[in-house]
Amino acid sequence: MRIGIIGTGVAGSLLAERLDGAPGIETAVFERVRPGEHAEAGTGLNLGPNAAKALRLHLPERHAALREASLPWRRWFVDLADGTRLLDLDLLEVADEPGVRIRWSELYRVLRAPVAGITRHGHALEAVEEDAAGRLVPVFRRADGELARHGGFDLLVGGDGRYSQLRALTAGVPEPRQLGVCIWRLLVPDATDCPFDDYGQWFNGNARLLAFRVPGNAVYVAGTFPLGEDGQITAEHRGLDYQRRLFLPPDAEPSADVAWMLAQIAARFGEIHWARSADAPMLRHSPDGRALFLGDAAQAMVPTLGQGATQAVEDGVLAGAVLRAGGDVRAVAALRDPRVGFVRDLSWAASDTLLPGVDSVAGTRKKNGEAFRAELRRLYRDVPGPEELLAA
Ligand SMILES: Cc1cc2nc3c(=O)[nH]c(=O)nc-3n(C[C@H](O)[C@H](O)[C@H](O)COP(=O)(O)OP(=O)(O)OC[C@H]3O[C@@H](n4cnc5c(N)ncnc54)[C@H](O)[C@@H]3O)c2cc1C
Repeated sequence: MRIGIIGTGVAGSLLAERLDGAPGIETAVFERVRPGEHAEAGTGLNLGPNAAKALRLHLPERHAALREASLPWRRWFVDLADGTRLLDLDLLEVADEPGVRIRWSELYRVLRAPVAGITRHGHALEAVEEDAAGRLVPVFRRADGELARHGGFDLLVGGDGRYSQLRALTAGVPEPRQLGVCIWRLLVPDATDCPFDDYGQWFNGNARLLAFRVPGNAVYVAGTFPLGEDGQITAEHRGLDYQRRLFLPPDAEPSADVAWMLAQIAARFGEIHWARSADAPMLRHSPDGRALFLGDAAQAMVPTLGQGATQAVEDGVLAGAVLRAGGDVRAVAALRDPRVGFVRDLSWAASDTLLPGVDSVAGTRKKNGEAFRAELRRLYRDVPGPEELLAA
């Protein structure tokens, strides 16, 4: 069986590693960026404990490399902007191991390294044709501007992210569902004086800061705030004064944590990446079953629970296990779709406190309750190991 993987982000790299050398499978891997280029990966992220568990059970070497390049995500606290504590969770109460705090560039480096030798870089998927045997032939625009074809494939896998070209070409362009919230991201280097370490969130009404340390003495900061009725990020939103007002408590001094972040925002305002929070309808494969979608290509989700890359990790290792065992795209869908559906819905529902008209204090305190912890246990622990997969 000849399998072509488009994109070596999170899901694509892990799938390529899982399939490389598998008996009866010939794998070809294509990536738009050049070798060693991680320019699109500017900031940091947290991977849930479920990503760590998936790697530990299925790719222990990658688990070790990821731990080496990251800090453990052990704690999750939520404060108000004046420092009032609303929630303080030890993740080991709901997970089998800590999550991961890492820089994007490091995550890509760790995941891409084992498949660098089998990846054709500078190959951007542009079109899909069909050969005489009815197999899909991907057509790439190479970095030198020329078109390239590398034959027909029994299966093409889209690991090419939220704006997947493979999904667009074989199943149509998905219509995003906007949450109505802006999320911006900033990586602060040289953060020696940062007063906090592990994962925290700070609410001021429905505006929220989120931050944690990542390796290299850096801190990742993300700001979230509701957009107006038109759902657009306006020039006013992108102003420093507007952003300060969003996160400053109206009747109190900001906590030391919030004051530190506001100073960093002011110093590095031009480096902020702005985006809108949205998800897209889940689709696991093209109608004819010749293209499989993994990670954001299948299931772009809102970033509220930090599960986008986390689910891409689960997708890569678990789809790899299914395909190695001779399963097809429907077997991958049967394993992944109920799980991903649960995670997408939970991520959307947990975004309630970011929306206007919702009491963020009451909403956060509710997350202290047993019902939300049970959801988190399911989220962080329900990852099948090789024996469970075999039995299924
Ligand atoms: C603001 C924000 C914050 C986030 N924070 C978190 C977080 O804290 N934790 C978390 O788990 N997730 C987070 N996410 C989600 C995360 O970024 C994605 O879910 C994750 O990167 C998806 O992985 P992937 O492998 O599907 O795609 P990607 O990592 O996007 O990789 C896609 C790959 O395909 C390549 N490619 C693209 N098009 C082509 C083409 N035409 N031809 C060939 N190659 C191509 C790209 O170069 C890239 O290498 C966040 C997202 C946003 C927007």
